[in-house]
Amino acid sequence: MCGIVGYVGTRDAVPVILEGLGRLEYRGYDSAGLAVISHGALEMRRSVGKLVNLAKAVKADPLSGQVGVGHTRWATHGRPSEENAHPHTDCKGRMVVVHNGIIENYLSLKERLQGEGHTFKSETDTEVLAHLIEEQMRGNLFEAVRLALQQVEGSYAIGVVSVDDPGRVVAARRGSPLVAGLGEGECFVASDIPAILQATRRIMFLEDGELCVLSRKGIEIRDDSGKAI
Ligand code: GLU
Repeated sequence: MCGIVGYVGTRDAVPVILEGLGRLEYRGYDSAGLAVISHGALEMRRSVGKLVNLAKAVKADPLSGQVGVGHTRWATHGRPSEENAHPHTDCKGRMVVVHNGIIENYLSLKERLQGEGHTFKSETDTEVLAHLIEEQMRGNLFEAVRLALQQVEGSYAIGVVSVDDPGRVVAARRGSPLVAGLGEGECFVASDIPAILQATRRIMFLEDGELCVLSRKGIEIRDDSGKAI
């Protein structure tokens, strides 16, 4: 179990996410990655090993965007490799998910999704989340994530972004930690406080089973029935 960071605001998300991941390094990891929405499309960089490798990959092939998520991985399902590093995408590459935790029933979900024509690109348990959300997506990312998570057993802290609902990061937790931070015209989500403390002191802990929607306007927290908290 390692770290996730999500950002939406007016700054470039890439340095914010890299810095946040750096502050979660103490949690240990074997690979790292990030994705941002850039000009209506998703751009992603991933690398095995230390965060400096991801920073090098970003420097060699720069990307930028104002909405994004990042991840440091401690492999539980599938060896440490670039293909298994997060974020993971749906079939069309229109949505990405980062995840800390373990999806216990991933094998049966994966078999069903593959039977329905979904193509998997990694050996991770996490990738089922991307395809489950894809299956539920009708233009409202929050609802798609909420309905997808109802099918999942196990532990998770996730961050999701989609080009079909840009301007938002949807996050949720059950069994893995997650905090949300409110800034001026920007919001953050992360596994732990140090990742966002340099940006804001207005931080809240999400409770088990809660979901949140981050936008430039602020943070909405909802329960798993979709009711606002
Ligand atoms: N179970 C996921 C994987 O192996 C997430 C591991 C983590 O929490 O970093 O990719």
